[in-house]
Amino acid sequence: MYINGQWQPGAGDFAVFNPASGERIGLAPEGGADDARAAIDAACAAFPAWAAAGAYERSAKLYRAWELMMAKREELARLMTAEQGKPLRMALTEVKYAADFLLWFAEEAKRVYGEIIPSARADQRFLVRREPVGVVCAITPWNYPVSMITRKVAPALAAGCTIVLKPAESTPLCAMAVFRILEEAGIPAGVANLVTTSAPAPVGEVFCTDPRVRKLSFTGSTEVGRMLYQRAAAQFKRVSLELGGHAPFIVFEDADPVHAAKGAAAVKFLNTGQACISPNRIFVQRSIAEPFLRTLEARVAAQRAGDGMDDKSTVGPLFSQRAIDKVEAQVQDALALGATLHTGGKRLTEGGLERGFFYAPTLLSAVTPAMRIYREETFGPVAPVILFDTEQEALAMANDTHYGLASYVYTQNLARAMRMFEGLQFGMVGINDINPTSAAAPFGGIKDSGLGREGARQGIEEYLETKLGGFSI
Ligand code: NAP
Repeated sequence: MYINGQWQPGAGDFAVFNPASGERIGLAPEGGADDARAAIDAACAAFPAWAAAGAYERSAKLYRAWELMMAKREELARLMTAEQGKPLRMALTEVKYAADFLLWFAEEAKRVYGEIIPSARADQRFLVRREPVGVVCAITPWNYPVSMITRKVAPALAAGCTIVLKPAESTPLCAMAVFRILEEAGIPAGVANLVTTSAPAPVGEVFCTDPRVRKLSFTGSTEVGRMLYQRAAAQFKRVSLELGGHAPFIVFEDADPVHAAKGAAAVKFLNTGQACISPNRIFVQRSIAEPFLRTLEARVAAQRAGDGMDDKSTVGPLFSQRAIDKVEAQVQDALALGATLHTGGKRLTEGGLERGFFYAPTLLSAVTPAMRIYREETFGPVAPVILFDTEQEALAMANDTHYGLASYVYTQNLARAMRMFEGLQFGMVGINDINPTSAAAPFGGIKDSGLGREGARQGIEEYLETKLGGFSI
């Protein structure tokens, strides 16, 4: 663990495994509640000097961290593929995305502006100043084990906050590598602290209940996010939550069905479907169903599951047995209720794949609202297709979910594109675009997908308080 500028052991160690082979690839320190408190002590002690250091100094350190991360891109990507399973090419893309947050917030640090507000009284002046919220605690998931860290650490540090981070239990090695970069970049002791653990609850409890912590930032499941939000509410902590999704992908008859199917395949199987913005329900207008399904089926069947280090692999393993069980249960339920299986639909257990958690890329059609997959986040390589007849019907079905993270629309009709952009109850809408994400763009959801935004100009706001000065002159 990295606490107060020192690498420290835990009460013991826990093992980290490669999900493609089951092989043990390393050990991480077992932290607990006392380590979380020690890290918060360090973050509290470091806060005044870091907040006072000034935007240009903070910016320079983040800029250095960006340079170092880009220089170590290959090394970090290899570690990520070994620890998380995604194909190396995709790991390289993620490291670049992660580094983008360091660069973006190195720049935003210098743009935390105040305001002067005219008063109705001639002898009064109003000044508004933005201040760092204070000590931040953050919890991140395993599916994007480097970028989910920089998406929180970079804006927190840019704003002048100090931070304690707990990464996912299955990807602590990537987190350690990121904190080595922060150390090498000259981030002062206590400003950024890392607590690793295989038992998240006691650490999460300290994060939620220690009164010195002023902000909690969490990325993970809706279930855990809800529990942390409730625990943090007693102390009115600021909370940002990036939670689950159930993205609709809507293809209208005025779109090119082949182009749309290629897009659907590309975004659906990204990270083996283990992405919060992964399309979970693909709605296709009935009149173009045939060419769309034909292209999608060919694309899904052409996916190749395997070890991410093999450059022929296009999808890696799922992350656990539990993940395989959930995907299998959703597919079996859909088939029992009348869905059509085009390709896939089974666990892969040959050619060495039996050692990892591999599931065949799968295409289902004739999916209906009665099926589990229509309601639940899948987080796996299954593309479920649902046909519709009218725009109103598509919009109603797309919004028929308690999630509200990403959504996608394919249409060549400008008015329809605008109607869908306005009508979809989601934080992000990709119009003929499968990747509406960037360090420069606000990422986040509504409804059960969370609170707040990460990245963009809005990302730093989450770490700032507004202070008013009223001056009588
Ligand atoms: P998860 O089980 O909620 O885990 C996320 C993090 O929370 C991990 O670090 C986990 O630690 C920790 N955690 C679990 N229980 C906790 C507790 N009682 N107290 C404190 N921390 C606790 O989610 P996951 O299955 O790993 O991640 C997948 C979910 O994340 C999906 O729903 C996905 O949609 C969502 N996600 C959202 C976004 C977004 O930006 N909206 C991005 C990526 C993922 P352990 O690893 O030790 O369990």
